[in-house]
Amino acid sequence: MRRLLLALPFALLPLAIAQAAEKHDHDHDHEHASLDAHEHGVARLNAALDGQTLELELESPAMNLVGFEHAASTDADKAKVAAVRAQLEKPLALFSLPPAAGCVVAQQELESPLFGDKPDAHDHDEDHGQAKDAGGHEHHHEHSEIHAHYQFTCATPGALKNLDLAGVFKTFPATQKIQVQLISPSGQQGVEATAKAASLKF
Ligand SMILES: [Zn+2]
Repeated sequence: MRRLLLALPFALLPLAIAQAAEKHDHDHDHEHASLDAHEHGVARLNAALDGQTLELELESPAMNLVGFEHAASTDADKAKVAAVRAQLEKPLALFSLPPAAGCVVAQQELESPLFGDKPDAHDHDEDHGQAKDAGGHEHHHEHSEIHAHYQFTCATPGALKNLDLAGVFKTFPATQKIQVQLISPSGQQGVEATAKAASLKF
């Protein structure tokens, strides 16, 4: 009898391990899913400084930058998208790169469904609206992101002491925080920047 009781915890052990493994898988799935869905107000930035090359990769919900995520159909929406695009096309100013570092844009790429100019976008929107009304279903989520990828060549990278994101928060005030992955000669760090703590050390 006594021997049986002692054996019991060991008999249960494989089950506990199996459950733990299952839980781990579940957590992993969950984590993966939350990477796909974005959170309004939160943007991600990868910043890598390697020699004279500085790379910045900004991934933001369109909501933070333009204030909506649907395809622009009205003139006002189109003007807003164009204005945001123009700001993103001036990264030296947006990211307040110090003139002493002598950075020039070597490459830049902007990507967003909102930047695509499909001639039939308007018709599509109308069809979509009718379908939604017919279904009587107002619950509708359509998320769009704006991705901006920049590569700079900096003559004096030593002058890049900080990455100051104050300009980004000021230009796009709907951005509440930016999750930054910073890679520099001093190592890799994950930092959360906000309007009040916008300056990061390279
Ligand atoms: Zn969204």
